[in-house]
Amino acid sequence: MDKKTAIITGGGSGIGFACLEKFISHNYRVIIIDYRIEGIKEKLSSAGISKEDVDIHQANVADFNELESVFTSIHGVGATVLINCAGISPSTNALHEYDVDEWKRCVDINLNGSFYASKLFAQQFLANKLESASVINISSIMGKRGTPGHAVYSATKHAVIGLTKSMAQDYATLNLRVNAIGPGVIETPMTSDWMQDDGFKNYFLTKIPMQRAGKAAEIANTAYFLCSEEASYLTGAYIPVDGGFLAV
Ligand code: NAP
Repeated sequence: MDKKTAIITGGGSGIGFACLEKFISHNYRVIIIDYRIEGIKEKLSSAGISKEDVDIHQANVADFNELESVFTSIHGVGATVLINCAGISPSTNALHEYDVDEWKRCVDINLNGSFYASKLFAQQFLANKLESASVINISSIMGKRGTPGHAVYSATKHAVIGLTKSMAQDYATLNLRVNAIGPGVIETPMTSDWMQDDGFKNYFLTKIPMQRAGKAAEIANTAYFLCSEEASYLTGAYIPVDGGFLAV
């Protein structure tokens, strides 16, 4: 059977890497676009993934020209999945202490990066005359609420949901479906320092009905479902995967 292709930004780490493992296990090839690519080949080898199934590109998602070069080089592939996973969560500050450049950097990566990759993906979808495709935007529970000191993260993750809803309508009749996932607290390199902090851990565990952090694979499972034919009538949705956090 011919392999399909998924593009995953931030595919070298955490949730992105778990998505890579999930899609590879379902007969996809994966194109990773990541900022730092050292060590990814070793991770693939440790996970028992053939390097033939993965194409690794170094690029900063906040730089449209860099992303455009990557998309130009993969134009002929006909990728049918894009997962916008690259993101950062800057250290917390009250708003009056925010550094303006740090604010802009977070918007550039978390929001603009998703826009740039989605725009380029949609262009290729149209040029390649594909019958169907899916975009997954990795938002957050912070796309539905705020928390002290996290204004820029929360603002970008809310915005990614708006991007999802509008883009879904742009391409709904063409079967290019666009959905967002809102991970709760997930064990990844992004949260590993916080997880060492008992205060943080206890605070979140009292807020999460399932009383545990999530695993990156649990986000990947949802991403795979949303891209599958099982979700053929699902577009413009935000799916929280958070152990019940937003239900409280
Ligand atoms: P992670 O392990 O730190 O992965 C983030 C990935 O994004 C890394 O590979 C990182 O590359 C890449 N990246 C960062 N800036 C980039 C840039 N400018 N250009 C290209 N790639 C860039 O964190 P994660 O937890 O898997 O996070 C993945 C996504 O899930 C993020 O959007 C995050 O906001 C979201 N999320 C995570 C949680 C959670 O609890 N973990 C909860 C809600 C939402 P480098 O390592 O090279 O910097």
